[in-house]
Amino acid sequence: MTDAAISVRHLDHFFGEGEARKQALFDINLEIQRGSLTIFMGPSGSGKTTLLTIMGCLREVQAGGIRLLDEELSGSDEISRIDMRRRLGFIFQAHNLHDSLTARQNVMMGLQVHGRGDAAKQARAADHLLGLLGLGERMDYRPANLSGGQKQRVAIARALVSNPDIIFADEPTAALDKVSGLAAVQLFKELGRARGTTTVMVTHDSRILDLADRIVTLEEGRIVADRAAAGHAHVSAEHA
Ligand code: ADP
Ligand code: MG
Repeated sequence: MTDAAISVRHLDHFFGEGEARKQALFDINLEIQRGSLTIFMGPSGSGKTTLLTIMGCLREVQAGGIRLLDEELSGSDEISRIDMRRRLGFIFQAHNLHDSLTARQNVMMGLQVHGRGDAAKQARAADHLLGLLGLGERMDYRPANLSGGQKQRVAIARALVSNPDIIFADEPTAALDKVSGLAAVQLFKELGRARGTTTVMVTHDSRILDLADRIVTLEEGRIVADRAAAGHAHVSAEHA
């Protein structure tokens, strides 16, 4: 086992074919430590989501290499990518909750794909997390009866309930007010400390930057800055 949860080497990525082919990522190199909280920043279209989805095994590695939790992703088959995905938690901008299920049932979905535990145990795990995220009174509500911020917190609980080794989150606090946004990110940090969970998060939310161990900035598909943040004691290193 190495200290790096994620290691990206010389990663390039292209969209489209022929004349329409466009490079979205250029020579990305990154090592992300286990248990750390890393934030990706950068303007719209700079490649943040593309990089996050490749690291999260949701897109194939076209050129370059990625090691995730000591496994090489490049050249891996679909079966091992599916196995790997079970060890990851995802929180996306569009929260993808099931409209017909209550908050509790939506969170339990995060466990059912793993087939872990009986229903009563899964419900207890779901209730525990929903409580931590301030939704103790809303467990039996369906998404239609929840605010945008409450739905976002249900999606966060669903991603965390299976104890993932790595959490990938794309603007997870965009729909949240200040207090619940900070509470959600504090929870990621506590998981990092208690369980060694690694979090990689895209955000523009300046209130959250202070909590990060590290801030990586992308522009036009390239890393233009990579620095230790207030949440961390390391000396900062800037490369352009
Ligand atoms: P960000 O998340 O930083 O806003 P993205 O990773 O979504 O940026 O996009 C990076 C670049 O790749 C943009 O130029 C975008 O238009 C392009 N892109 C993203 N997804 C696709 C796709 N599915 N097909 C074609 N181009 C895409
Ligand atoms: Mg994006």
